Amino acid sequence: MVTIKVAINGFGTIGKRVADAIDAQKDMSVVGVTKTGPSFGCGLAVKRGFPLYCTFDDEEKISSFAERGYDCKGGLSDLLSIADIVIDCSPGKMGAENLAKYKSAGVKYMFQGGEKHSLTGLSYTSCANHAENFNAQGTRVVSCNTTGLSRTLVPLFDFCGSLKVECTMIRRAADPGDSHKGPINAIKPVLQVPSHHGPDVMSVKPEIQINSMAVAVPTTLMHVHAIIADLPVGHGLSTEMIIDMWKNSPRIIVMNGKNDRIPTTAEVMEMARDIGRKWGDLHEIFVWEDGVKLVDDRLYYFQAIHQESDVIPENVDCVRALMGTEKDWRVSVSNTDQAISNYYGL
Ligand code: NAD
Repeated sequence: MVTIKVAINGFGTIGKRVADAIDAQKDMSVVGVTKTGPSFGCGLAVKRGFPLYCTFDDEEKISSFAERGYDCKGGLSDLLSIADIVIDCSPGKMGAENLAKYKSAGVKYMFQGGEKHSLTGLSYTSCANHAENFNAQGTRVVSCNTTGLSRTLVPLFDFCGSLKVECTMIRRAADPGDSHKGPINAIKPVLQVPSHHGPDVMSVKPEIQINSMAVAVPTTLMHVHAIIADLPVGHGLSTEMIIDMWKNSPRIIVMNGKNDRIPTTAEVMEMARDIGRKWGDLHEIFVWEDGVKLVDDRLYYFQAIHQESDVIPENVDCVRALMGTEKDWRVSVSNTDQAISNYYGL
């Protein structure tokens, strides 16, 4: 089997998780990760055995790593020269500058959801458009919210043939490791209506008609979505059938808030810590069974998204799509998830 050589540009919240998920796979390996300078995150890269590179080619910046005791192998260009594909995990909106570097190095490239669809003209989420991304030169893995919406809406759309959706994103204010974001004692509406989250689903599944509004609330744990979906007349579904559909779809966990005593995102995250993945991650979208109800043709439900991790396995599947090594998204998803489970001894 040929091993796909993967570079990770940006080793922060998403980058460090993607690195582990790639490292877990048999058909790919991490050839290096970048840091902007010698911060504590370099220690994690060293501990994990990932070759460390500087985000920039600047000699002074590269040598600053050695001054703090880190072995830096070179700049971004050195890393790109030994990679088949780069996964850009830099903070959002840095894409345009980085894209030029990837193009000039001639490597395939993937961005994250902090970038706009227009940067690449192509977006990715496994259940929606793996085939469309097959052998493409570059793409964008959609955001945590768009990934979450796609996981539950795409199977519903595939069954019904049409779907009209209104949803509200109740967003965490900051990731647990961020000290500079808020609000800490307020609810902050996104005063751009509709918000970009719902319509972004149409970048991977244009047939779903969807709009959203969003508010940020003072929590760091998870996002919650309150979703209303209008199904076409004659859809033939019941509440129970929809719950079963989700139980049988990859990367969705359905539990009963009352009976399983898991009524809030706090208990969901405690359950995720019990599962045993690193950082207490939950790659799956969490749906409260007792929060799902179909009234005539209108479906109501809540779901919770672990913002730091639902996109992680998607990045692995996206590598296989772009490199043209696995055409069937379900096979890729199953291989990815099994390898991650084995990696963590679960
Ligand atoms: P982060 O700030 O935690 O990490 C970004 C890393 O990139 C840092 O280590 C930073 O030093 C480094 N960096 C800075 N400038 C860079 C550059 N020019 N080139 C390469 N690296 C650079 O950010 P994050 O939360 O990991 O987000 C990364 C991307 O993933 C963003 O597009 C974001 O929108 C998206 N995303 C984030 C989340 C989340 O919840 N954190 C969820 C889904 C998608």
